[in-house]
Amino acid sequence: MERWQRALSESITSLSELARYIQIDPKLLGPVVARYPLRITRYYLSLIRERDDPIGRQCIPDRCELEEDILSIDPLNEGGLTPVPGLIHRYPDRAVLLVSSVCPTLCRFCTRKNRAGGEGSFINQNSLEAALEYIKSRPAIREVILSGGDSLLLTDDELENILIRLRKIPHLEIVRLHTRAPVTLPERITFRLCRILKRYHPLYVNTQFNHPLEITHESTKSCAMLADAGIPLGNQTVLLRGVNDDPKVMKQLMQKLLTIRVRPYYIHQMDLVKGTGHFRTPVQKGLTIMAGLRGHTSGMATPSYVIDLPGGKGKVAVLPDDVRRQGKTLFLRNYLGEIIEYPDSEGGL
Ligand SMILES: *Cc1c(COP(=O)(O)O)cnc(C)c1O
Repeated sequence: MERWQRALSESITSLSELARYIQIDPKLLGPVVARYPLRITRYYLSLIRERDDPIGRQCIPDRCELEEDILSIDPLNEGGLTPVPGLIHRYPDRAVLLVSSVCPTLCRFCTRKNRAGGEGSFINQNSLEAALEYIKSRPAIREVILSGGDSLLLTDDELENILIRLRKIPHLEIVRLHTRAPVTLPERITFRLCRILKRYHPLYVNTQFNHPLEITHESTKSCAMLADAGIPLGNQTVLLRGVNDDPKVMKQLMQKLLTIRVRPYYIHQMDLVKGTGHFRTPVQKGLTIMAGLRGHTSGMATPSYVIDLPGGKGKVAVLPDDVRRQGKTLFLRNYLGEIIEYPDSEGGL
């Protein structure tokens, strides 16, 4: 067993165990965990100072998860966009392969929290063959995203097997891995893993830091190892009430990410997922955060703020309302709030 596998096996998965470290009422939270399983790595647990701090809120079960709300178990209609079990194909040129059904730490706000572990949701050997056939027979697919669960909870060999198969498909240009391992199980990023990954370039890794407290010595090192293997690193932050719904916190997070060679890619508005309503913020909050980034800090530290539309209609980037038009003149608001006139092209359509 590798060191990361041992670390994973030592994760906290029961409330009685969690109660040894954090003040919780196992009886009160029992029904929550019966519905949505608990898993926290020792490392991620070590970052928690208080139950309700930005780390604790992301991983400690909460009664609010059982609130009867109108939210959906599959708001993005991923089920309807699944031609082969474990493959989501929504956009013309890229598809998502759900290669793993587990994560090192189960986020309470997960967009797939109602699917995790669900039958047929994730790929097995048979569906992997079918998914590879599907990709092979569709030349329009130029990018495959390995997700899950966490794509890096495959063993090195399982992962390499998939990468080998993908690289045999001539029209496939880009492989992207989605993983929270650098944040929740940094031990997973080993030199052996990096040596394997760099054989399959161009390969990108998108991770998910949600708070500056997650940028530690350990997570910094794991990102450095991936970056040193020539892997461009991106970050997808989820905008979470009580965790990072604050322009100062978000700006600090984005700036710190650049210092560890991770380029902010998206800030996600929470999806309308059953059991996660207590994490939702008004869209105005996201717009205010974006207004606090653009111009005030590096453009490299400024991601897109995206809303994934219900029904699988796709992601839309939203911006603060800063354009007005009068005839051929645009009035644009800059980062200082000044309205500046801009003459539009006469030649355009
Ligand atoms: C988010 C998503 C992607 C990737 O979208 P990008 O904007 O390229 O990051 C692809 N497929 C599905 C189904 C998605 O939800």
